[in-house]
Amino acid sequence: MVTRTVILTNNSQTTFSVNELCPTLTIDLAALSHNYKALLKKSGVAKLATVVKADAYGLGIDNIVPVLEAAGCECFFVATGSEANALRQITVDNDIYIMNGLTCDGEELADKKLAPCLASAEEVSKWIMLCEERNSNLPAAIHIDTGFNRLGICPDDWPEIANQIKASLFTPQLIMSHLACSETKEHPKNRSQLEKFEAARLLFPDVTASLANSGGIFLGNDFHFDLIRAGIGLYGSVEFNTGDAQLQNVLSLHVPILQIRNVKKGETVGYGCDFIAHRDSQVAVIGIGYADGIFRHLGDLEDKPASANVALEGQILPLIGRISMDLTTIDVTDFEGTLEKGKKVELIGDNIKLADVAQRANSISYEILTRLGTRFKRYYKQSDKP
Ligand SMILES: *Cc1c(COP(=O)(O)O)cnc(C)c1O
Repeated sequence: MVTRTVILTNNSQTTFSVNELCPTLTIDLAALSHNYKALLKKSGVAKLATVVKADAYGLGIDNIVPVLEAAGCECFFVATGSEANALRQITVDNDIYIMNGLTCDGEELADKKLAPCLASAEEVSKWIMLCEERNSNLPAAIHIDTGFNRLGICPDDWPEIANQIKASLFTPQLIMSHLACSETKEHPKNRSQLEKFEAARLLFPDVTASLANSGGIFLGNDFHFDLIRAGIGLYGSVEFNTGDAQLQNVLSLHVPILQIRNVKKGETVGYGCDFIAHRDSQVAVIGIGYADGIFRHLGDLEDKPASANVALEGQILPLIGRISMDLTTIDVTDFEGTLEKGKKVELIGDNIKLADVAQRANSISYEILTRLGTRFKRYYKQSDKP
């Protein structure tokens, strides 16, 4: 496949000196498009909506959303009203749902055709009033709680709300709920939530229904309903089994070497002297740190002797010492090849999987992605083929 790489500066908050050695994020838009199609294939007859909250999990809505649209996506979910507003500038006609509920002025949402996921009896009543005032059925979803106990309308309120809605101008565009344990296939909570969701649906029989997130796609057809809300699966990193879906890695992070140092046996490296060289060593210093979203727990902390790995020309090497704000150190003693300033070390990519990095950091891919900072050059890699 012919690929080309473009540098987009429009959404970058930092102006770079042309040749500065700085970390680069490469976002593979062809892989993103591939993942959309792969997840769609696994979704049976359901439509595949995408979740682009938190700036498309940190990857940048400006560049991500058009690719998802081109792949066939017509429905988007964000968390907040501000995110919905920003997304409306990019996608003029497609459905936009706000998952945090009615958190801002309903009038403004209605004007912009932004649909809140109404998450309580009170929010539903407010929306019904707005529909009556405007004498129109304004688009909104109802968010049903099926046991997550985060947001959503409680089971006790379902019948009353169903009656109110029936007697009003408002017909929900969507009934949705969210799974608490979708990444654990055998977890009994999945079936319990499915049964509650089916019970709720009986009260709203002809309304489009949505229960599954990315993990839910792999729980089986009975979890799919009419619409799936996929997030993390699109971005290529999952901590659950995706069978034969063959999702591709979307994000790579490469960081240039700023300096190579000789460290004698017995000398220490970095803050707190946590790392003590047990042999004469070579150490590479790279220009990235926790201010860029590299979790300190990836480092060689006092209470955590095993640190994460990186890759240099495909060879796996350990991070050593503590990660500091702007710098990180790597033991390159065993590297076979030429060591020099400017060479790029892979922190996330084909050799170092995001899901593994997340595990090493005691976290999840979602958190690593959404914490990546602003001091990167971002390359959006596009395929010339449709
Ligand atoms: C974030 C979110 C999703 C997407 O979940 P993924 O696991 O990233 O696919 C779907 N629905 C709700 C309510 C969410 O908050």
